[in-house]
Amino acid sequence: MNIHEYQAKELLSKYGVATPKGIPAMSVADAVAAVKQLPGPLYVVKSQIHAGGRGAGKFKNNPEGKGGVRLCKSEADVKAAAEAMMNQVLVTKQTGPEGKLVQRLYVTDGVDIAKEYYCSVVLDRGTSRVTFMVSTEGGMDIEEVAEKHPEKIIKVAVDPAAGFQGFHARRLAFGLGLTGDAQKSAMKFFAALYKAFVDLDCAIVEINPMIVTDKNEVMALDAKVAFDDNALFRHPDIAAMRDETEEDAAETLAHKWELNYVRLDGEIGCMVNGAGLAMATMDIIKLYGGTPANFLDVGGGATTERVTAAFKIILGDPNVKGILVNIFGGIMKCDIIANGIIAAAKEVKLSVPLVVRLEGTNVDLGKKILAESGLPIVSGDNLADAAEKIVAATKKAKAAA
Ligand code: GDP
Ligand code: MG
Repeated sequence: MNIHEYQAKELLSKYGVATPKGIPAMSVADAVAAVKQLPGPLYVVKSQIHAGGRGAGKFKNNPEGKGGVRLCKSEADVKAAAEAMMNQVLVTKQTGPEGKLVQRLYVTDGVDIAKEYYCSVVLDRGTSRVTFMVSTEGGMDIEEVAEKHPEKIIKVAVDPAAGFQGFHARRLAFGLGLTGDAQKSAMKFFAALYKAFVDLDCAIVEINPMIVTDKNEVMALDAKVAFDDNALFRHPDIAAMRDETEEDAAETLAHKWELNYVRLDGEIGCMVNGAGLAMATMDIIKLYGGTPANFLDVGGGATTERVTAAFKIILGDPNVKGILVNIFGGIMKCDIIANGIIAAAKEVKLSVPLVVRLEGTNVDLGKKILAESGLPIVSGDNLADAAEKIVAATKKAKAAA
């Protein structure tokens, strides 16, 4: 799960990560009022969307104008910036061409930057360790730095048993060439980031830029924090920060029904129980010349409601030209699944070919229920047969259209 910059900074600052003072604003009036609570004379108005590259981004209604992060020198400036951003669509490198609607702003104290750096904390699955990545190339696209100047990225992995130690902090600070007060401030900063990352069950914390101010203080000028969804149950306060308007509608629906859904760019929608079976189903669709439109694991307890929600999610993707349901009735019985599929197919007024492969407990009864449903559901005898049938049916439906 992702959160906004202002939420990330609020959480991080509780751990002692220094950030410029800032006030979230849900309206232009809020943004103007925020000015009085900040020291000035420099303010920054920042669009809050779940995407980076805001500063260099452009608003759809004014592509010639300034971006989604603006430095302001007066209350009037802040008002103008807020008016230009609020309820407008911001397009950045990370939003895709459709952009994202700005519905929240963050007004911060404008700080004087001596130098910008890059800092992130991630879980490196290769080493199974929480790993810091820092670079002197701050404010830039880190992917670009990684590609062109990999030697400019310093990595420090932390042994989970010993935790974050002074030498980790020194290695990072020295790696960035920091000395004196800046080095001390950086060491405190890294230790606080590590504690926040572990305590909050983060998946990534990215500070780009991390800055050294003209007073030699290290601060997070920007913050991107994402959490491990599997640990969110431990953090109801963080789960409450979810901003559904930022999320893909299909993903929100999938989350609500506890479906594991990942959209892909193919044509055949897949509904499968079990992640391994879902992967195998995608593979075999490819093998028979089709392309999967998604990964969707409905899990063990596939009720009629969940199957219906899954159908709605799949059909919500305009690229879907056919659906393959592949369910193994282990804990679930095939007849219950068959009834769920029929109820769901009727409710969503299925408009594309549907091939169903059932296997497991009560499979014959399940197949009989599907066959007698009067719906144009094709039964697959095994995984290969089902894949072949859905690829053929999809091609035929496309040719007819
Ligand atoms: P992003 O473009 O979405 O990554 O947003 P950032 O929060 O990283 O802001 C973009 C850029 O705006 C930063 O790299 C800074 O150069 C600039 N910026 C943001 N806040 C301040 C500030 O307080 N003072 C100054 N001088 N520049 C700022
Ligand atoms: Mg940034």
